[in-house]
Amino acid sequence: METRCDPLTDPLSPAFDERRFRDHTETAVSLLGPQLADTSIRGLDLIEPATLAKVARDLMTCERDTVAAFDEKKLAAILDLYIRTGIQVHSPGYMGRQFSGVVPLSGVVDFVSSVVNQPSSFYEAGQLPNVAERLMADELNRYIGWDPGTFAMVTTSGGSLANLTALLAARNRAFPDLWARGAAALPDGVRPAIAVGADTHYSVARAAGIMGIGEQRVVRLPIGPDQRIRVDAVRPALDDARRRGLSVFCLVASAGTTSVGAFDPLDELAAVAREQNLWFHVDGAHGAALLLSERHRHKLRGVEQADSLAWDAHKMLFVPAPCTLLFYRDKAHSLGAFRQKASYVFDEQPDPYTALDSGDKNFECTKRPMIMPLWVLWSLYGPALFRRKIDHLCGITEEFHHILRGEPDMETLHRPEVNILCFRHRPEELPDDAVHAFQVAIRNRVKQEGNFFISKVDVDGVAALRVVLMNHRITTEHFHLLLGEIRRTGQDILHREGGRN
Ligand SMILES: *Cc1c(COP(=O)(O)O)cnc(C)c1O
Repeated sequence: METRCDPLTDPLSPAFDERRFRDHTETAVSLLGPQLADTSIRGLDLIEPATLAKVARDLMTCERDTVAAFDEKKLAAILDLYIRTGIQVHSPGYMGRQFSGVVPLSGVVDFVSSVVNQPSSFYEAGQLPNVAERLMADELNRYIGWDPGTFAMVTTSGGSLANLTALLAARNRAFPDLWARGAAALPDGVRPAIAVGADTHYSVARAAGIMGIGEQRVVRLPIGPDQRIRVDAVRPALDDARRRGLSVFCLVASAGTTSVGAFDPLDELAAVAREQNLWFHVDGAHGAALLLSERHRHKLRGVEQADSLAWDAHKMLFVPAPCTLLFYRDKAHSLGAFRQKASYVFDEQPDPYTALDSGDKNFECTKRPMIMPLWVLWSLYGPALFRRKIDHLCGITEEFHHILRGEPDMETLHRPEVNILCFRHRPEELPDDAVHAFQVAIRNRVKQEGNFFISKVDVDGVAALRVVLMNHRITTEHFHLLLGEIRRTGQDILHREGGRN
């Protein structure tokens, strides 16, 4: 069909021009290439927000009435600013957080996702993403171990949302009328509660808050010196909760706590949950990926007994955030979190097409086709890519722990089970009551120096330095450099600022 140039739409055409698109892509690739090739030690160049806002504002066109003439150089400046001002996840200086330096190919797939824009909650909008979700669920289930066809998996925008979704499914199973009737559905004196490890990720308590389970009704299960839930303390804690009038309906275990990467004893906790008729949710946001490793999968022994399992692929499967997989052992339960009908999206008569829709199982309506980067990596490289990287990261973490044990001024706090390692710098002259503030000050100074990016966490109430090794290019040499920087900043703080900051 011939179309004539329409003077009304013509100003739009440059923005949709295919040749320009190629130019923009080249601009982006020419900036990202050197970024990936740069193995220098860089942390975070933290810019004051007002300063950055001014720089960014100067890059914005003042044109308001007509579509601005395009300036490829300005695009390059914006992309450059974007790339430079974040945490440098591809540098060996990045040791601070759980999101990964992604496998570059996964970024290319994500880029395609953004251009074709196929949201994935409904099969008709994103056919391949929906099929890929099924294929990935089956692939990953080889490592979980449920019977094919009996379980379900739904993707969610992050582990926090996966935890909330699973807890809703758990609550609705225990209190089926709550969804429709709200609190009025509860018989007098029934107070729904959940039991979680004392070091559970904050999103679990937040989910409880969202569901109207007060903070005080989150039963905190004691953890031992290894930072894992003490199984011997679980039954007494649940008995005590019952005496306080709480109806605990769910037990949440962590497979890899955020702070130190501790794996709760899933096998034994599953037994308690079964015996007390509790939903058993495993928050494996960080550590579920260890299932892929022959060497480390024993840490998740019992995971197949979980009613639900949250697994962040944007952490230990090295794809762009967010990409979370929420598994249910019983596929019927995947429909339990949200009990709604919406005529404009949910079909009354499911057919082979709508059967793959996940809109009734996830909170999002429009959802990123987040499985695509993971599925493409898996399809082209196979599971060994992930397994080898995981094994390597866990291996260097153990090595670093070993190094720390030989340093008298470094205090180790746990034997690392995954790629998270917490420790304290305790030079001899440091008074005991200054240990906490000293770690915080060191962490802040190291961050400011901009070479290394590390984090901090309280372990048993006292701050510790925390490294999370997501980058396989990190070597023991980098770690020694980090320790050197910690000591140097430590001396500075002690002698200039008296250890308190
Ligand atoms: C990271 C993490 C979360 C939160 O997941 P997001 O994807 O950041 O929302 C929850 N639980 C654990 C154990 C985590 O490590």
